[in-house]
This record gives sequence, C-alpha cells and structure tokens, in this order.
Amino acid sequence: MNELLESCPICGGTDLPAKLQVQDKSVSQETFTIAQCAGCGLQFTNPRPDAAHIGRYYESAAYVSHNSAAQGLVNRVYRMARFFTMRHKVALITKLNGGRTGRLLDYGCGTGHFLARAKSAGWQVTGLEPNPGARQDAAARVGQPILEVSALTALPPASFDIVTLWHVLEHVHTLNETLTQLVAALRPGGRLLIAVPNPDSLDAQYYRDNWAAYDVPRHLYHFVPDTMRRLLARHGLRITHTLPLMLDAYYVSMLSEQLRTPAQPVGPLVVLRAGLRSNQYAAQNGGQYSSLLYVAERAAG
Ligand SMILES: [Zn+2]
Repeated sequence: MNELLESCPICGGTDLPAKLQVQDKSVSQETFTIAQCAGCGLQFTNPRPDAAHIGRYYESAAYVSHNSAAQGLVNRVYRMARFFTMRHKVALITKLNGGRTGRLLDYGCGTGHFLARAKSAGWQVTGLEPNPGARQDAAARVGQPILEVSALTALPPASFDIVTLWHVLEHVHTLNETLTQLVAALRPGGRLLIAVPNPDSLDAQYYRDNWAAYDVPRHLYHFVPDTMRRLLARHGLRITHTLPLMLDAYYVSMLSEQLRTPAQPVGPLVVLRAGLRSNQYAAQNGGQYSSLLYVAERAAG
C-alpha cells in the first residue's frame, strides 16, 4: 500500500507541491512523484510504498549492494570502487576518532564489507541490517552475528564513538525515530557519518528524471546540504565536515546512462566524461558533488 505524507518530516510544513515525476525503470516501471516542501525545501518521494510493502521494490538482481555475487560491468566497477573506498573510509573514521580505534556502529551494513575492513583495522564493530540475505552474508564476512535493525533500541546508550550510514538514511521510513535512536547510541562528542546522493549535483541536473540516484521508490528522501543541516540540527547534531564521494559521480553517471539509453551499451568514455564533469562542477560550485558524506557531531556533555 502507498502512504501519503501530509506533512514534511523536517519542518512539519504542509505545502508540499510536486517537483518531479520519476519512473522506477529498474524494478517496477511505476512512476513516483518527488514533492518539495515549500517551507524547508526537503525533497521526498510522496506518496511512497509503506514499510510493509516496499520489499518487492528491492527484488531485482541489479540491486547490487545486496548481491555481492552479481556479475556484469556495473558490478565489476562497483566492486573495484568498493575495494579502494573501504580503506579510505576506515582511515577517515579513525582520524575523526582522534587517531584511535573504538566502537563503531554501522546501520544498514549491507553485505558487511566496510565492517569487515574496520574490524580488521582494530575497531569493535556492531552491524545492523534489515535484509536477511545481506545479514547472513555480512555475518560470514565480518565473523560475528549481524543484528536486525529492531535491535537498535536495545543497544547501550552513549556507547559508540562512530555511527555510520553509507547510502542508508534515504531508505528509512521512520526517519526521525531512527535518528533519535542513533543519536542516543552515540557518545557525547561522537560522530555520525551519513552518505547520501545530492540532487543539486551536476549529474542530477543533467540526467533529470533519469538520474539513477533518485532511485524511487527505494529512496524516500533526496537531501541537499541545507536540508541535511536542518534535519540534523533537529536532532542536536552539528555538521563538522561535508566531504565529496567522487567515485559516486562515475557510478551514478554509468547507471543514469543505462536508464537514458537502455537499448545501447554504455561507453566507458561517456561515463568518464560525465563523472569528471560532475566532479569539476562541484569543485567550482560550492562542493555540490554527486554524493556527499556529512560528518556530524553530538554535542559533548
Ligand atoms: Zn519542510
């Protein structure tokens, strides 16, 4: 069943005009509306399948983050990029934690590649994941049980140095409730890292309704820097860094080219040029990269 949000999840505003119609070309072929709150600017998929009925929109072999055995060019590139970015991510959280390892919670850990890398670098890790198949994969990869997301409320309060959500928050129906619980799990002074696509990037403007990172109806919210700042401020968090995820410009451009011209194979040069153009635009236009990593701090004390 679809559910219609009558008010904005960030500001509570009720003036929610349609901004863009986007077709789910990868799974259902259905078309969804992205609304934009007139009050705070939040863009979100509205109406959207409710939490009990969204499962079938994930039933596709192309949904690579839940299927590490998938083949094809997309998946080969994805795995290569993942190998290089995991090291970088673990180095980043260690630096943010004062150069020390500590306790890490990865919410929506998928098949567990990041957690496994962090654990082998000395982090004490906890992973939560809603997809049963991914959870099983992750448990084998990380070498410890991975919990269902409902376990979040049972975690000891203020016990994690770092909490990460890598392309996860845009999928969460219970946005504010989940953020409240994640902040409660974070120690004062700890950091919350949220990676999400950025619909103010050049590749989003260029591909418009074919921009792969709209990914409706799986992506429920389409945050830009200002709406993320407002959301996190509501939860007592202050953004300390906004970092580019430059490989995402290439990955998202490749998927977007496939959506734009499904009958043609995607040329690597087209993807290279599109990704490079997006990153160059971002460097010259206030850091509007294809995807952004927001680092937010829970106030100490
Ligand atoms: Zn709003």
